[in-house]
Amino acid sequence: MDEAHQIWLKPVKYVKGVGPARAALLEKELGIRTVGDLFYLFPNRYVDRSKVYRIGELPGVSADVQVKGTITDYREEGVGRKKRLVATLDDGTGELEMVWFRHYNWVKTTWPIGSQVVAYGRLNWFGRTPNMPHPELDSVENILQKGLTGLMPVYPSTEKLVKNNVTNRVMQKIIYEAFRTENLRFAETLPSSIVREHQLVSKDEAMRAIHFPKNLTELSRAQFRLKFEELFFLQLQLLYKNRLRKKKIKGYVFEKIGDYFNRFYREILPFDLTEAQKRVVREIRADLKSGTQMNRLLQGDVGSGKTVVAMMSMLMALDNGYQAALMAPTEILAKQHFQTIRRWSEPLGIRTDILTGSSKTADRRRIHEALLSGELQILVGTHALLEDKVQFRRLGLAVIDEQHRFGVAQRARMWKKSDIPPHMLIMTATPIPRTLAMTHYGDLDVSVIDELPPGRKPVKTYHLYARDRYKAYHFIRKEVQAGRQAYIVFPLIEESKVLDYESLMEGYERIQEYFRSDGFRIGMVHGAMKPAEKDSVMKDFKEGRIHILVSTTVIEVGVDVPNASIMVIESAERFGLSQLHQLRGRVGRGADEAYCLLITDGKLSEDARTRMRTMVETTDGFRIAEADLKLRGPGNVMGTQQSGLLRLKIADIVKDGFVLQRARMAAARLLEEDPGLQKPENALTGQILRENIRKIGFWNYIG
Ligand code: ADP
Ligand code: MG
Repeated sequence: MDEAHQIWLKPVKYVKGVGPARAALLEKELGIRTVGDLFYLFPNRYVDRSKVYRIGELPGVSADVQVKGTITDYREEGVGRKKRLVATLDDGTGELEMVWFRHYNWVKTTWPIGSQVVAYGRLNWFGRTPNMPHPELDSVENILQKGLTGLMPVYPSTEKLVKNNVTNRVMQKIIYEAFRTENLRFAETLPSSIVREHQLVSKDEAMRAIHFPKNLTELSRAQFRLKFEELFFLQLQLLYKNRLRKKKIKGYVFEKIGDYFNRFYREILPFDLTEAQKRVVREIRADLKSGTQMNRLLQGDVGSGKTVVAMMSMLMALDNGYQAALMAPTEILAKQHFQTIRRWSEPLGIRTDILTGSSKTADRRRIHEALLSGELQILVGTHALLEDKVQFRRLGLAVIDEQHRFGVAQRARMWKKSDIPPHMLIMTATPIPRTLAMTHYGDLDVSVIDELPPGRKPVKTYHLYARDRYKAYHFIRKEVQAGRQAYIVFPLIEESKVLDYESLMEGYERIQEYFRSDGFRIGMVHGAMKPAEKDSVMKDFKEGRIHILVSTTVIEVGVDVPNASIMVIESAERFGLSQLHQLRGRVGRGADEAYCLLITDGKLSEDARTRMRTMVETTDGFRIAEADLKLRGPGNVMGTQQSGLLRLKIADIVKDGFVLQRARMAAARLLEEDPGLQKPENALTGQILRENIRKIGFWNYIG
């Protein structure tokens, strides 16, 4: 290990062909400092160099090809910026022109006339002569001697590197030298049982094959091995922390199920729970009496019935003499939750209250006192709950709705509200692809409500262009005449508030104009309105006094108006998939058929087209989340920046779900068998794990 370690830490400038200038460049452009960094500069892709074309038989397309021949001639052509060096390459079957726009002298001295070379590059055709700008050249002997035929790695690069003549060819040579000059072996990082069970090639073989694959089979086995290893250590770290947290962080024990819970279930719950809801309640129940703090993520698609699960969990806290809190991301949502919870709690004699940014001073004071005395049992609210002044007597459970709106730091602040951190239930309606959940939320336990309450029909979704908008209006007219209600949503994007406001107003007027003769009542809500105004409009809509609600996305999450059957989304191309899905979830909550009409501009980007198509094709939140992840990449899907995802060197969270699953299972099994990774055969694995944890900082994203 020691000797190998020294090789790894050796500055890259000592590698043959590098030197101080290139070393500085490599560090600046690619962050490469040591030989170890070089080993881990994995190729982005590979090109097949096994085929050498005859010039006379080159395909008449623009493609990357390889030819072999003799340089017979150099000449300079063109003037000014078009000035270039042209060489003729002849292989007996035809002639190819090679072109350079710089480094003339270097080319001419390195490859004098008469040199036998292998040229590789992008083929262009001007008339009948094939032409190759800035080819990669190699002497024929070099290619044969170093075995650099077959699959050629293409390394990450930058414009600056290429400009300074550190071409891909040069990178290949540098890495080749790094491997060659040191008598090195890569130690096996995975326990031999795992290597065997998953039929992995050894670390040493994999590291060599990833840079110098002999064929596709060897390459794919090396890739699998290295992806597996990378994901394995990520999972190992998350699972290890989870175990440690459970061991270290005591939780309140909610021993019993009592009167509140039982009476709610028997006397108040207005429907039967779905099987999925029952399962999740059981999972939560098991956590709450386990003696360790619960940190559970509850995923359930829009309308899957998470609120009642939250209610029942809070009742478990109350039954054991604790208080509970529920935090929502917006005032509207908090109020809606409060109404539901109060309706369910009052008959049981439970004291509830609501605290938001707009709560009056007197109300705040009353709430603060009632919390401290323990009289107030359930507090619902917004971010206002996080303020230091809000102190509970015995907070046993905190529920956070729509988690992706809150950061990890905010989650952690809830912890400080009592001596022992309260149990946490985090709910999200944005389904997270399994792969992402496993990595981003790998340190949480996950419950899924994967079943909608009975009688729900999928929302019928159509995509219309703006010129056909009147069709949507016509349809609204028929539905409203039949007693239903409609939403018409306009985008609101912070950067162009003014513009959006104008388009909302314009839309509002257009809609009023269109429905003037129908006598429909049309209301509007938008972000700039006072909370009280917003509330009164929402209330009118909820109670059927407004037929058509024109709004910005303030209604995006959670608002529940079962009689609304149409969701029209204007400029739908400006919304992301998860937002569209959320919006659509506002309708289809009653038993009747519901519709979602996506109105867009005529000119759509490829990406926008895919989003519209996905919405029309499916209402399955998980499929939509997968599509979203594919379109946007993991870095843009809800705050995943904090997770290890973006540091992945070879695995791809979108494409390698299968590998991830296996790696996670292997990591879980290993920790089962050897929780501290103490056994000799797991020693190196344990050492790497601890090293990784030290680097990231243990407390960094716990909670
Ligand atoms: P979400 O998961 O989106 O928060 P809600 O909790 O708001 O969903 O529930 C959506 C609607 O479904 C509510 O009107 C709720 O009362 C109703 N609901 C929840 N569970 C059931 C069930 N098991 N059977 C019938 N209706 C249910
Ligand atoms: Mg909800």
